[in-house]
Amino acid sequence: MRDISHKLAFAHDGAAARYSDVFDPNNGTVQARVALGDRALLDRAVEVAKAAQPAWAAVNPQRRARVMFAFKALVEKNMDELAHLLSSEHGKVIADAKGDIQRGLEVIEFCCGIPHVLKGEYTQGAGPGIDVYSMRQPIGIGAGITPFNFPAMIPLWMSGVAIATGNAFLLKPSERDPSVPVRLAELFLEAGLPEGILQVVQGDKEMVDAILDHPDIGAVSFVGSSDIAHYVYSRGVAAGKRVQAMGGAKNHGIVMPDADLDQVVNDLSGAAFGSAGERCMALPVVVPVGEKTALALREKLIPAIEALRVGVSTDAEAHYGPVVTAAHKQKIENWIQTGVDEGAELVIDGRGFTLQGHENGFFVGPTLFDHVTTDMQAYKEEIFGPVLQMVRADSFEEALALPSRHQYGNGVALFTRNGHAAREFAARVNVGMVGINVPIPVPVAYHTFGGWKRSAFGDTNQHGMEGVKFWTKVKTVTQRWPDGGASGDSAFVIPTMG
Ligand code: NAD
Repeated sequence: MRDISHKLAFAHDGAAARYSDVFDPNNGTVQARVALGDRALLDRAVEVAKAAQPAWAAVNPQRRARVMFAFKALVEKNMDELAHLLSSEHGKVIADAKGDIQRGLEVIEFCCGIPHVLKGEYTQGAGPGIDVYSMRQPIGIGAGITPFNFPAMIPLWMSGVAIATGNAFLLKPSERDPSVPVRLAELFLEAGLPEGILQVVQGDKEMVDAILDHPDIGAVSFVGSSDIAHYVYSRGVAAGKRVQAMGGAKNHGIVMPDADLDQVVNDLSGAAFGSAGERCMALPVVVPVGEKTALALREKLIPAIEALRVGVSTDAEAHYGPVVTAAHKQKIENWIQTGVDEGAELVIDGRGFTLQGHENGFFVGPTLFDHVTTDMQAYKEEIFGPVLQMVRADSFEEALALPSRHQYGNGVALFTRNGHAAREFAARVNVGMVGINVPIPVPVAYHTFGGWKRSAFGDTNQHGMEGVKFWTKVKTVTQRWPDGGASGDSAFVIPTMG
């Protein structure tokens, strides 16, 4: 069987005391095993990173940016291979796997402009003969801990900005689809990144804990489920680190009576079922406003969902492929049962779905619930599967309150033709990323990604200027160049510029 190991800047035979199975979700078989690293391995990786980082930070930002340019070209050249590898472990269809890589590359494009964004601030004459300037300096060594659902994009969100700003970076990818991060690290080396600046350490909780406790790692970026995000945030901050930890989601799509329903159905099909619903910006809750909207939407939605094609991830016609593991498939089916037990109307049941020739694949058919209510556990929690829940609201205010009061606050979308309603909604909704007639409002790379409430712990977002802030420290210099001789008495009061 194929072994997947770390990508380290020192000789290592790849052997480990523990391994985790990596599945082929299309067939339900084990296709490889990944080595799970331990504290001793991390210690060695950190030592190498410490030795390499000062020289990398001293490389001028323009030259660091050139590595980003070269890396982007290499990823584009290897796009097909990367997308197939990603799809074979994750289960998302090839076109979607390319999107995963492309969205990561857009962060690399942002990083190509790093010399511009690293320019500090300067005030000439802040006081008599005094100038003040600031500079952004790297943290030193940063680490990223990433989820299974975007094995290219999320590692690139973090590693791109961390490296471009002069840090050494340790990536701990999901043990469920660990191959693409290793390939990305190889391509970074090929692009000219010095050894030791990006290393991939494979592992599970043991490695995560080692990262959180390591005194020489100054910043940790995490993306995954909320309970673990909160744990990572608390433990990392207690150890004195800078931590950003993005968590789960339950995004709502509000459909106003004036919305273009055909467009909404198109948008919802992709946003609720694309990637088998395994996206933190998926739209698993739809909220039609008013009885008439609910009935009309339901009538159009049912045939659209029934027409969805579920297939193996290499099927170019498939709308979505299998979910990532048998355990996750079971979890999704358990949530469907919970919804039924709690009294929601199961309109389309995706359980028991099998694909001829792939009977052991981890497939879940598209599922639709209507009459879901806010007291149901199946509404309150994230399902992370191809399950769409309809929650009916009588008014704009009632609809606005649903995502605003939900424990998660990652993304939300409003479908309407009414500019006033849209403006009100965007201003008042208690959620971090808002789409107006845009079902998956993932901000572009030079803006910034992050939710609110239990969807994110910490105070800086991913990529854009927020990412630059996270991976750098500000140093502010107040300088004076006296023209010689002592200038009067010592000052025993706080200096002012007045
Ligand atoms: P997960 O929380 O199971 O795993 C995320 C990472 O944490 C992995 O690297 C894993 O190895 C590690 N981990 C797992 N258990 C751990 C433990 N007990 N202690 C320490 N570390 C542990 O998440 P997942 O299933 O890989 O990804 C799906 C989740 O990620 C969903 O909840 C989804 O909404 C969320 N997500 C959020 C965002 C966002 O930006 N808000 C983006 C993508 C995914």
